[in-house]
Amino acid sequence: MEKVVIITGASRGIGREIAKRLAKKGLKVIANYNKSEKEAEKLKAELEQEEISIDIVKADVSKREDVRKLVKYTLNKYDKIDVLINNAGISEYKLFTDETDKDWNKIINTNLYSAFAMSQEVIPNMVHNKSGLIINISSAWGVVGGSLEVVYSISKAGMDGMTKALAKELGPSNIRVNSIAPGMIYTKMNEKFTEEELRGIKEEIPLGVIGEASDISKCIEWLIEDKYTTGQVISINGGWIIT
Ligand code: NAP
Repeated sequence: MEKVVIITGASRGIGREIAKRLAKKGLKVIANYNKSEKEAEKLKAELEQEEISIDIVKADVSKREDVRKLVKYTLNKYDKIDVLINNAGISEYKLFTDETDKDWNKIINTNLYSAFAMSQEVIPNMVHNKSGLIINISSAWGVVGGSLEVVYSISKAGMDGMTKALAKELGPSNIRVNSIAPGMIYTKMNEKFTEEELRGIKEEIPLGVIGEASDISKCIEWLIEDKYTTGQVISINGGWIIT
């Protein structure tokens, strides 16, 4: 059977683009969404027009019971999980001193806890199969830190830490774990920036353009075919951040 892949937060933006690319390649795609039911249904319908079938599953991945439901659905239907893409995420633009405990819990639970819980729930099946790939969509801000996005930066740095440690723990079971750290990609997440701010950002990017979701999905397609890359944080940012 083709590879089975769960993508969290696939109703919009980067996750949606990943779902489309992998489904068109013939993978069995389980596209998770939480609030954007209409967008998820639209994605499914769009692919059905090309006679491609995907599963869309509602789950709030910041909650353990929903994570279990999503993984259980996948295993009941396909009996295996080859690839997990922890993509669901939220950001917030706020002074650090204005961040509340509620903000902290929401961002950390949505971005970091979700990757922890999703990975915990899929790993037993991957260990059983002696094969698997986990990809965490982190961020350039996790690598270098983003002003006014401190909690977001913490959540993404946490994902990268998890990637490195888990890659070591799971390597002997032939499970690879990698992060992709995007720079600035055109999605709803960046609607907060004005035209002028975006122009300023472009000037800071050596390649002079803001990235597209397909720049990320192409790398994911490559990682799925690859066999020897693990524990890495792959930066895709037009040269914006070079460490
Ligand atoms: P986006 O367009 O805002 O999409 C976010 C996705 O996450 C949506 O599909 C949303 O689904 C889902 N999501 C949010 N909370 C969720 C929850 N509790 N449970 C399940 N799904 C949830 O953002 P994006 O730009 O595509 O971002 C995707 C990932 O890339 C994020 O992790 C983000 O931090 C990372 N990233 C993005 C950029 C960028 O420039 N765009 C840069 C660096 C990193 P619902 O609407 O259905 O809830």
